[in-house]
Amino acid sequence: LGDEGEKEDENEGDGEEQNEDEEDDFFVPITKAEYDSLIGEVYNLLVKSLLKCRCYRDAYDFCARGIELFHSLKQDDSILQDALGNIKKVYTSRREKLDLSPSEEKKDDNGVDPRLLPAQGVARRVLYPWNDHEPDRKASETLELLNEILKDVAPKCEVKAVALPALHGTAGPHGINGGAKGQEGEVSIQLGLFAKEDIAPNEILLRETSLLTATNRLHDDLCDACNSPLPDLSSPNPPVPCSDCEDTIFCSQECHDQAQEIYHGAICGMEGLASIGRDIPDPKDKADYLYLLLLGRALAMAATQEMHPLDLPEVKYIWGDFCDFDLDPEPEEAGEKDDSATLPFSFHLTILQPIRLLEEMGLDPYATLPTYDTWILNTLYAKFRGTASGRLSTWDGGPELCAVHPLWCLANHSCDPNVRWEWGGEITFRARGVEERAVWRRKGANGQVEERKAEKEGIRMGEEILNHYCDVDLS
Ligand SMILES: [Zn+2]
Ligand SMILES: [Zn+2]
Repeated sequence: LGDEGEKEDENEGDGEEQNEDEEDDFFVPITKAEYDSLIGEVYNLLVKSLLKCRCYRDAYDFCARGIELFHSLKQDDSILQDALGNIKKVYTSRREKLDLSPSEEKKDDNGVDPRLLPAQGVARRVLYPWNDHEPDRKASETLELLNEILKDVAPKCEVKAVALPALHGTAGPHGINGGAKGQEGEVSIQLGLFAKEDIAPNEILLRETSLLTATNRLHDDLCDACNSPLPDLSSPNPPVPCSDCEDTIFCSQECHDQAQEIYHGAICGMEGLASIGRDIPDPKDKADYLYLLLLGRALAMAATQEMHPLDLPEVKYIWGDFCDFDLDPEPEEAGEKDDSATLPFSFHLTILQPIRLLEEMGLDPYATLPTYDTWILNTLYAKFRGTASGRLSTWDGGPELCAVHPLWCLANHSCDPNVRWEWGGEITFRARGVEERAVWRRKGANGQVEERKAEKEGIRMGEEILNHYCDVDLS
């Protein structure tokens, strides 16, 4: 932020000519005096917004920097002082809960150890009123379109709209976090997957491949596109490297060709991208970084296909557990919980790292705002967090792979699932046999244990395909 004034001048002479015309429409150079008159309000806004999202560590950082700046400019810092007061309250209550010894706390001049403030906050999953990319998932044209794609992926299945009881807890019908809020007895209309004809036990009823995948493995022996293991160099069909950047390896010519068209074209040779999201300071943040990598793949797909990210077919029809837009004018107390805020949000992973991704892709994050604005990235995150499936590392047990399969995630979840899913290069649903179905036990009136088992083999026509809750909790 502090460099902004100088930056404008630097860019005057040496910008790329092509971009300059475009940028001139968006940006007006400002003087140092104009910058000084604006920058205070920028700090106020940033700190207030970070507080709203409960990103206290970054709010504190900008607050301290802002107060210093206000002093040097001899401006009124009362808004930031108020914010600082609120942050200190949060700090004190957190400090009490943590019960640290004095040596574990390294207080600064404000009496705050910033490391003890939470950096991860939450935002709402909002269906922004200006988001005209979101389809009506229950409209007949959407169902027709999805059923058309399903013909190849799951020929014995169809998509239908179903009424589900509105959920109160944390498990959403398509995902591992979030969930519609509602009163007892309320229903929410969701999409579901149904058998169009009988399906035999052990029959594979859905096979879906997706290039919307991400891995945080550093030394990859996986295909860059589909994440399946690379074949041996000596095999008749050896791995295929990208001809322009040798570090990118695919399992087959098919994956190579698809990758070029779908996501690799725009990022080929952009070496700076490789390190983003893979150097993870704290192992417990691994899942959050996987979502960032998934975001990076979506941005690469959008740039390669010259498409808006929210219009990507892998993204457009998936569920985001959105709540309605509500411009809440009430000032919130620091630390107060907003129940509708369920989407993890941090300055680092929602703002800074995505800007780094764009810059490493050779895109100006400001000039490309209409395509990659924060609300768009937040919408992507909301959709990914509701629907991505993950795989754990056999190495350290941490999450290392995740993917979005837009048709697979149409299936609702049940405690008595009738399919099992497996994910190699493609994701599949396989119908469960009787021996794999849930067994319900209860104590009868006479104290005897009664058992109820599934009686049917496979899945009958008209039955809903029900997935199990995710084995891997990425949230
Ligand atoms: Zn592949
Ligand atoms: Zn390449």
